[in-house]
Amino acid sequence: MADQNGFYAPERVLIIVAHADDIEFGMGGTVARWTEAGTQVTYCIVTDNSSGSNDPAMTRERLIELRQQEQIAAAKILGVEDVRFLSYPDGQLEHTLELRRELTRIIRQVRPQIVATMDPTTIFAPNSDYINHPDHRAAAEAAIYAVFPSSENRLIFPELIVEGLEIHHVKQVYLNFSLQPNLYVDTSTTWERKMEALLAHKSQVSEEVREWIRGADTEVGKAGGYALAESFRVMTINRDEVQNG
Ligand SMILES: [Zn+2]
Repeated sequence: MADQNGFYAPERVLIIVAHADDIEFGMGGTVARWTEAGTQVTYCIVTDNSSGSNDPAMTRERLIELRQQEQIAAAKILGVEDVRFLSYPDGQLEHTLELRRELTRIIRQVRPQIVATMDPTTIFAPNSDYINHPDHRAAAEAAIYAVFPSSENRLIFPELIVEGLEIHHVKQVYLNFSLQPNLYVDTSTTWERKMEALLAHKSQVSEEVREWIRGADTEVGKAGGYALAESFRVMTINRDEVQNG
Protein backbone atom coordinates (compact mmCIF):
# COMPACT_ATOMS: atom_id res chain seq x y z
CA MET A 1 0.00 0.00 0.00
CA ALA A 2 1.13 3.57 -0.69
CA ASP A 3 0.79 6.05 2.16
CA GLN A 4 -0.47 9.60 1.65
CA ASN A 5 2.92 10.71 0.33
CA GLY A 6 3.05 7.90 -2.19
CA PHE A 7 5.56 5.88 -0.16
CA TYR A 8 5.16 2.21 -1.08
CA ALA A 9 5.23 0.04 2.04
CA PRO A 10 4.53 -3.54 0.97
CA GLU A 11 4.03 -6.58 3.15
CA ARG A 12 7.64 -7.75 2.93
CA VAL A 13 11.01 -6.24 1.95
CA LEU A 14 14.30 -8.11 1.66
CA ILE A 15 17.54 -6.09 1.78
CA ILE A 16 20.72 -7.72 0.48
CA VAL A 17 24.08 -6.00 1.10
CA ALA A 18 27.71 -7.00 1.54
CA HIS A 19 28.48 -5.65 5.00
CA ALA A 20 27.10 -4.93 8.41
CA ASP A 21 26.42 -1.13 8.41
CA ASP A 22 25.78 -0.80 4.64
CA ILE A 23 22.02 -0.67 5.26
CA GLU A 24 22.24 1.87 8.08
CA PHE A 25 24.47 4.23 6.08
CA GLY A 26 22.35 4.40 2.96
CA MET A 27 18.83 3.20 3.74
CA GLY A 28 18.28 3.28 7.52
CA GLY A 29 15.71 6.06 7.33
CA THR A 30 13.78 4.19 4.63
CA VAL A 31 13.84 0.97 6.67
CA ALA A 32 12.31 2.86 9.59
CA ARG A 33 9.61 4.23 7.26
CA TRP A 34 8.81 0.68 6.15
CA THR A 35 8.69 -0.86 9.63
CA GLU A 36 6.60 2.06 10.95
CA ALA A 37 4.13 1.30 8.16
CA GLY A 38 3.98 -2.37 9.17
CA THR A 39 6.31 -3.84 6.54
CA GLN A 40 8.25 -6.98 7.57
CA VAL A 41 11.87 -6.27 6.70
CA THR A 42 14.55 -8.98 6.41
CA TYR A 43 18.28 -8.23 6.20
CA CYS A 44 20.73 -10.48 4.39
CA ILE A 45 24.38 -9.59 5.10
CA VAL A 46 26.48 -11.48 2.57
CA THR A 47 30.00 -11.25 4.04
CA ASP A 48 31.28 -12.12 7.50
CA ASN A 49 32.48 -8.51 8.08
CA SER A 50 35.86 -9.81 9.12
CA SER A 51 37.95 -7.10 7.42
CA GLY A 52 36.44 -4.03 9.05
CA SER A 53 39.43 -3.12 11.20
CA ASN A 54 43.09 -2.16 10.89
CA ASP A 55 43.71 -2.53 14.63
CA PRO A 56 46.70 -4.90 14.96
CA ALA A 57 45.13 -6.33 18.14
CA MET A 58 41.90 -7.29 16.34
CA THR A 59 41.43 -10.78 14.90
CA ARG A 60 39.05 -11.80 12.13
CA GLU A 61 37.28 -14.19 14.51
CA ARG A 62 36.57 -11.56 17.15
CA LEU A 63 35.44 -9.08 14.52
CA ILE A 64 32.96 -11.54 12.97
CA GLU A 65 31.25 -12.05 16.33
CA LEU A 66 31.35 -8.38 17.32
CA ARG A 67 29.95 -7.11 14.03
CA GLN A 68 27.13 -9.66 13.97
CA GLN A 69 26.08 -8.44 17.41
CA GLU A 70 26.30 -4.82 16.27
CA GLN A 71 24.19 -5.56 13.17
CA ILE A 72 21.52 -7.36 15.18
CA ALA A 73 21.36 -4.42 17.63
CA ALA A 74 21.19 -1.88 14.77
CA ALA A 75 18.43 -3.85 13.05
CA LYS A 76 16.39 -3.98 16.26
CA ILE A 77 16.53 -0.18 16.57
CA LEU A 78 14.89 0.06 13.13
CA GLY A 79 12.28 -2.60 13.92
CA VAL A 80 13.98 -5.48 12.09
CA GLU A 81 14.25 -8.88 13.81
CA ASP A 82 15.11 -11.17 10.88
CA VAL A 83 18.83 -10.78 10.09
CA ARG A 84 20.63 -13.46 8.06
CA PHE A 85 24.41 -13.74 7.68
CA LEU A 86 25.89 -15.67 4.75
CA SER A 87 29.49 -15.31 6.01
CA TYR A 88 31.48 -15.05 2.78
CA PRO A 89 34.98 -13.66 3.53
CA ASP A 90 34.85 -9.86 3.79
CA GLY A 91 36.86 -8.01 1.16
CA GLN A 92 37.00 -10.90 -1.27
CA LEU A 93 33.42 -11.22 -2.45
CA GLU A 94 32.66 -12.28 -5.99
CA HIS A 95 29.41 -12.76 -7.82
CA THR A 96 29.37 -16.55 -8.15
CA LEU A 97 26.62 -19.00 -9.05
CA GLU A 98 26.87 -20.37 -5.51
CA LEU A 99 26.08 -16.93 -4.08
CA ARG A 100 23.30 -16.39 -6.62
CA ARG A 101 21.76 -19.72 -5.61
CA GLU A 102 21.91 -18.82 -1.90
CA LEU A 103 20.24 -15.47 -2.55
CA THR A 104 17.60 -17.10 -4.75
CA ARG A 105 16.85 -19.48 -1.88
CA ILE A 106 16.38 -16.56 0.54
CA ILE A 107 14.18 -14.64 -1.93
CA ARG A 108 11.93 -17.70 -2.29
CA GLN A 109 11.81 -18.19 1.49
CA VAL A 110 11.03 -14.55 2.31
CA ARG A 111 8.86 -13.88 -0.81
CA PRO A 112 9.34 -10.09 -0.73
CA GLN A 113 7.53 -7.57 -2.92
CA ILE A 114 10.67 -5.38 -2.87
CA VAL A 115 14.32 -6.44 -2.91
CA ALA A 116 16.66 -3.59 -1.99
CA THR A 117 20.40 -3.66 -2.61
CA MET A 118 23.10 -1.30 -3.86
CA ASP A 119 23.42 -0.23 -7.48
CA PRO A 120 25.94 -2.70 -8.93
CA THR A 121 26.88 -0.26 -11.70
CA THR A 122 28.27 2.37 -9.32
CA ILE A 123 32.05 2.17 -9.49
CA PHE A 124 32.70 5.70 -8.24
CA ALA A 125 30.51 7.39 -5.66
CA PRO A 126 28.31 10.32 -6.70
CA ASN A 127 30.06 13.69 -6.14
CA SER A 128 33.05 12.35 -4.26
CA ASP A 129 36.38 10.62 -4.64
CA TYR A 130 35.16 7.38 -3.06
CA ILE A 131 35.84 4.19 -5.01
CA ASN A 132 32.89 1.92 -4.38
CA HIS A 133 33.87 -1.19 -2.45
CA PRO A 134 33.99 -4.22 -4.78
CA ASP A 135 32.04 -6.31 -2.24
CA HIS A 136 29.13 -3.85 -2.57
CA ARG A 137 29.00 -4.36 -6.32
CA ALA A 138 29.43 -8.14 -6.12
CA ALA A 139 26.63 -8.56 -3.57
CA ALA A 140 24.36 -6.27 -5.59
CA GLU A 141 25.05 -8.01 -8.89
CA ALA A 142 24.31 -11.42 -7.37
CA ALA A 143 21.15 -9.98 -5.77
CA ILE A 144 19.67 -8.55 -8.97
CA TYR A 145 20.33 -11.73 -10.94
CA ALA A 146 18.85 -13.80 -8.11
CA VAL A 147 15.72 -11.63 -8.45
CA PHE A 148 15.72 -12.03 -12.22
CA PRO A 149 15.81 -14.53 -13.71
CA SER A 150 16.65 -17.05 -10.97
CA SER A 151 13.83 -16.59 -8.47
CA GLU A 152 11.23 -16.56 -11.29
CA ASN A 153 12.36 -19.69 -13.08
CA ARG A 154 11.78 -23.30 -12.03
CA LEU A 155 14.60 -24.76 -14.09
CA ILE A 156 17.60 -22.56 -13.27
CA PHE A 157 18.17 -24.00 -9.79
CA PRO A 158 15.93 -27.09 -9.85
CA GLU A 159 17.36 -28.20 -6.50
CA LEU A 160 15.48 -25.34 -4.86
CA ILE A 161 12.19 -26.72 -6.16
CA VAL A 162 13.20 -30.08 -4.66
CA GLU A 163 13.71 -28.24 -1.34
CA GLY A 164 10.08 -27.09 -1.62
CA LEU A 165 10.89 -23.50 -2.61
CA GLU A 166 8.52 -22.49 -5.40
CA ILE A 167 9.28 -19.63 -7.79
CA HIS A 168 8.61 -16.07 -6.69
CA HIS A 169 8.11 -12.83 -8.63
CA VAL A 170 9.62 -9.75 -6.96
CA LYS A 171 7.71 -6.60 -7.92
CA GLN A 172 10.36 -3.92 -7.50
CA VAL A 173 14.12 -3.63 -7.08
CA TYR A 174 15.44 -0.67 -5.08
CA LEU A 175 19.05 0.25 -5.85
CA ASN A 176 20.74 2.39 -3.23
CA PHE A 177 23.89 4.46 -3.91
CA SER A 178 22.87 4.94 -7.53
CA LEU A 179 24.03 7.53 -10.04
CA GLN A 180 20.52 7.45 -11.57
CA PRO A 181 18.10 7.84 -8.65
CA ASN A 182 14.39 8.15 -9.48
CA LEU A 183 12.96 7.90 -5.96
CA TYR A 184 13.62 10.16 -2.99
CA VAL A 185 12.31 8.87 0.34
CA ASP A 186 11.55 11.56 2.92
CA THR A 187 13.52 10.51 6.00
CA SER A 188 13.05 13.72 7.99
CA THR A 189 10.99 11.96 10.66
CA THR A 190 13.12 8.82 10.87
CA TRP A 191 16.59 10.35 10.61
CA GLU A 192 17.35 10.23 14.35
CA ARG A 193 16.47 6.55 14.45
CA LYS A 194 18.70 5.95 11.44
CA MET A 195 21.58 7.63 13.29
CA GLU A 196 20.93 5.62 16.44
CA ALA A 197 21.07 2.43 14.37
CA LEU A 198 24.21 3.52 12.52
CA LEU A 199 25.93 4.38 15.81
CA ALA A 200 25.17 0.86 17.05
CA HIS A 201 28.03 -0.21 14.77
CA LYS A 202 30.43 0.90 17.49
CA SER A 203 33.47 -0.81 15.98
CA GLN A 204 32.97 1.16 12.74
CA VAL A 205 31.66 4.63 13.50
CA SER A 206 31.67 7.30 16.20
CA GLU A 207 29.63 10.46 16.84
CA GLU A 208 31.52 12.35 14.11
CA VAL A 209 29.62 10.33 11.51
CA ARG A 210 26.48 12.28 12.44
CA GLU A 211 27.50 15.52 10.68
CA TRP A 212 28.79 13.68 7.64
CA ILE A 213 25.53 11.79 7.19
CA ARG A 214 23.46 14.88 7.92
CA GLY A 215 25.32 16.68 5.13
CA ALA A 216 24.89 13.81 2.69
CA ASP A 217 21.19 13.25 3.46
CA THR A 218 20.54 17.01 3.28
CA GLU A 219 22.06 17.07 -0.21
CA VAL A 220 19.89 14.14 -1.30
CA GLY A 221 16.92 15.89 0.32
CA LYS A 222 17.50 19.00 -1.79
CA ALA A 223 17.20 16.93 -4.96
CA GLY A 224 13.99 15.34 -3.69
CA GLY A 225 12.39 18.39 -2.09
CA TYR A 226 12.72 17.20 1.52
CA ALA A 227 14.80 18.35 4.50
CA LEU A 228 16.46 14.92 4.66
CA ALA A 229 16.13 12.03 2.24
CA GLU A 230 17.57 8.80 0.90
CA SER A 231 17.55 7.98 -2.79
CA PHE A 232 17.11 4.88 -4.90
CA ARG A 233 16.92 3.83 -8.49
CA VAL A 234 13.67 1.87 -8.51
CA MET A 235 12.97 -0.69 -11.19
CA THR A 236 9.51 -2.19 -11.48
CA ILE A 237 10.12 -5.60 -12.97
CA ASN A 238 6.66 -7.10 -12.49
CA ARG A 239 4.48 -4.07 -13.02
CA ASP A 240 1.10 -5.80 -13.06
CA GLU A 241 1.66 -6.99 -9.51
CA VAL A 242 2.43 -3.58 -8.00
CA GLN A 243 -0.77 -2.27 -6.43
CA ASN A 244 0.51 1.16 -5.52
CA GLY A 245 3.43 3.46 -6.08
ZN1 LIG B 1 30.22 -1.79 3.02
